[in-house]
Formats: sequence, structure tokens, C-alpha cells
Amino acid sequence: MKNNTGAYTWFGIILGLLFPVFGTYFALTASGLEINLDSIIQIQQEETLLWIIDTAPLFLGIAFYVVGRLNAKLRETNAKQEEIIEEKTQRFVEKNKELEAEIEDRISTEKQLILAKEDAERAKRAEELFLANMSHELRTPLNGVVGFTRLLLGTSLERTQNEYVNTIQESANHLLAIINDILEISKIKAGEIEFESVPMSPTKVVMNAVNTFKVMSNTKQIALYEEIDRKIPPYILGDQTRLNQILLNLINNGVKFTDDGFVRVRADLLSEDERKAKIKFSVEDSGIGIPQDRIEQIFKSFKQAAADTTRKFGGTGLGLAICKNMVELQGGRIYVESKVNEGSIFSFELEFRKAGPSEMVEQSKGAFETKDIGNVHLLLVEDNKINVKLAENVFKKWGADLNYDVAKNGKEAVDMHEKNNYNIILMDLQMPVMDGFEATRFIRQELPSPQSKTPIIALTADVMVSEKTRAYDAGIDDYITKPFDANKLFATIAKFVS
Ligand code: ADP
Repeated sequence: MKNNTGAYTWFGIILGLLFPVFGTYFALTASGLEINLDSIIQIQQEETLLWIIDTAPLFLGIAFYVVGRLNAKLRETNAKQEEIIEEKTQRFVEKNKELEAEIEDRISTEKQLILAKEDAERAKRAEELFLANMSHELRTPLNGVVGFTRLLLGTSLERTQNEYVNTIQESANHLLAIINDILEISKIKAGEIEFESVPMSPTKVVMNAVNTFKVMSNTKQIALYEEIDRKIPPYILGDQTRLNQILLNLINNGVKFTDDGFVRVRADLLSEDERKAKIKFSVEDSGIGIPQDRIEQIFKSFKQAAADTTRKFGGTGLGLAICKNMVELQGGRIYVESKVNEGSIFSFELEFRKAGPSEMVEQSKGAFETKDIGNVHLLLVEDNKINVKLAENVFKKWGADLNYDVAKNGKEAVDMHEKNNYNIILMDLQMPVMDGFEATRFIRQELPSPQSKTPIIALTADVMVSEKTRAYDAGIDDYITKPFDANKLFATIAKFVS
């Protein structure tokens, strides 16, 4: 900066020197004097303006010094700013590189996630298929055991035989309950649970659930009773089967884990408005209670309060896990208060829509009357001989009006139906040669009317919703799972043929 200022100062002084020189020269010429030292001194003394002009080098020197300084400062500031700009640009470049690397990283993570998702979906489909097959494989033979035991109990048996058959029935029912529990948990895990919304009486559901355990509680000499809040609406919209399932599970536990005293089932109205009602159901017992540190555990799958619970009381530890999921999936909550040796209170709260008159009318229209069934020609499509025998025995009990044929697979079913035009078809889904899905699709799409319009009821051991959806997509009209309830099957057939 110094050099620079110096140069400017000298430039100012040199430029300034020209002013006195030219000034004196012009003054001499104007006065007509000769140019020599005496004249110069003389004109200097006479012209006061020249004195002022003589100071020009000093002023210009100072002025240029200031300009030089300012210029130097400006350059310095510019240099500094350039440095800052350079630094910032460098930082931006680096940041840009970092961002580019991050974007690349994200793209590759996204790709990995897509692959992982596809893997998970494949695994889920494999699990679903496995469950559908397992359910079929386990429930089909069990269907035979349960059904034939029921039929056997209806024949005349000696006392010991009766006792043995009863034991077989009890064990088979127990096994079926376990398989159903495991399937239920798998369905919940696979997000396969769907809830119905149909009119029901909460009071009736509670009373029926309590009645189911009356015999068991009498044997154990426990007082089992219900207390139902009168303010509860007479009809609500909800999933009666699931509500019943939760209550049965809790009451069953109450009775199972209580040796003396009582099991009280309560239903209380927590709140209501014009459209909705929130109800709290609770099952209180005076049984063995649950240690505080096990309370969280018992709601998990396969967890029991103590290591010796199964040995002492039986059970698999799935009931409460199912209840918790059922309640929470319907937007409610379930909780327990308990004291060891004093008892437990299991409660759950659910909100229901109130059923209006129009919904009640629809419900009563759907009710079936047995006398309406009339003369029916039915086709049973079933590859399993035991299942055929079981169905035949059930049909016999429905009287002579029911005429039926049996097809061993989907292909036979299609041919027979084309020829005979049945009134209704009961279709197994998993069969050799041609399965039930394909046969149903063929009947719907390839056969002429009226054969293509015949009601088809899937009668199957598959309980997965995915299979059910596939079956509906193929064109079935209704879906009944095995082991089937003979009354439900009858009601469904009646619904279509009456
Ligand atoms: P399970 O009854 O088949 O063992 P649950 O899931 O229904 O399975 O119950 C899990 C565990 O919670 C039971 O094994 C038992 O230890 C405990 N439990 C459930 N209900 C009660 C009850 N009312 N009193 C005492 N313990 C209970």
C-alpha cells in the first residue's frame, strides 16, 4: 500500500510543478517581459496569484496521496472479498459433492429397500400359502374326527364306549381350538383380519357367553353371573363373533383360574351420543391372581403367568394375545387389574355404532326359515372320501327331499353340472385335476345359462382371507369353512335355493 501511495504522491507533486512553471511562463509573456531569472523573481513579487499557483505541487501531492490511499484500501478490500468469495465457492463445491454423494447413497438405499420389500412380500406370500396349506392339511382330517365323533355319539353306545367317544370328542375339540388359535394369530400377523358390522344385542352376547360356561362353573362350584347396565342400547353394529370370542376367552380364564368364589361378567355403558355407544366389558374373578411383574407378559403370544401354568391348568398362552389384538384392531383397549390370591379383573372397552331401524329390518329379512328349502338337487364337489361320508350323513338327516350327487374333482363337477344343471353346488377348493377356483371360473364363464348362474358355496378348510378373496373373485356366492356347522350350512343352502 505504501509504494502505491508514494507513486500517487510523486505523480501529484510532478503534475503540481507544471502549474507554477506554466503560470510564470504565461505571466511573463502577458507582461511582455523577457524570460530570465530577474524577470521571473520580479513577476513572482508582483503577481499574488502566482504565489497561490506555486503551492499547487503541495496540494496536488496531498490530494494524490489521499487518492492513492483510498485506491490501495479499495484494492485491499477487493482482494479480501475475492478471497472470501473464493473460500465460499470452495465450500459450495465441497457441499455440492457431499450432497451428490448423499443423493447417490439415498438412491442406493432406496433400491435396497425396494429389494427388501419385494423379498418381504415374497416371504409373506410364502407364509400365507404355507398357512393356507397347513390349515387345510390339519383341519381336513380333524373335520373327519370331529364330525364322525358327533355322529357316533348319536348312535346307541354302551356306557364305556360313550365315555371313550366323549373323550375323543373333547380332545378333538381341544386340538381344533389350538389349531384355530394358531391360525388366528397368523391371520392377525398377516393383517388378514376383517371385522363385520352387523346388528347385535350386546346383552344377548354377554348372556350367551356366560351360559356357555354354566356347566363348567357348576362343576367347580363357582358362582358365575352377569350384571348388565340397563342403559346399554338394545342393538349395536359390530362383529358379534369377535365380541363373543373375546368374552369366551376371558370367562374361560376366569373359571379356569378360580377354585372358589365367583366369576362376575359386567357390561357398562361408558358414554353415548346419538350415533355411538362406548361399552366396557369386564370379567372379574376371585381366583389365583397374577403377579404384578407378569401382567405385561400375559398379553403376549405363548406367554403364561407361571412356568407350571400349562401343567396345572392347560392352555397355550394364545387366548389373551388374540383378545388384545381383536380389541385393539377394533380401536379399543384391554387391561387387567390383579392381586395374587385375591383375583383379577380383565376389562376391555369398545365403541360401537348404534343400529338404526333400517339396519334391523335388513337383518330380519335375511333370517331363514327351514320349511322353505323345498326340493333341491345338490352337487357336492369333494375329493376326500371321509369328508364325503360325513356330508352324506349330514344330508341324510335333512330328509328325503335333498337329492345329491358327488364329484371327485373340479373337472367332474363341470361335466356333471353341464349335464344335470344342479340347484346348488358345494365346492371344495383344493382338489386334484381341477381345483375349486378353476371349476368355479369355468362354470361362470364357459357354461351356458342357466348352468352358469347356479349358486356355488365354497366348502373348504382354508380359512385365510386371501383364499376367501380368491374364491369370491373366481365367482363363488358364499364361503363356509370346515369343520362345518351343519345348521349354518343348511341355513346357507336354504338362503340360495328357497
Ligand atoms: P392360556 O389361558 O391358554 O394359558 P391366555 O393367553 O388366555 O392363555 O392367558 C395367558 C396367561 O395369563 C395364563 O396362562 C395365566 O397364567 C394368566 N391368566 C389369564 N387369565 C387369568 C385369570 N383370570 N386369573 C389368573 N391368571 C390368568
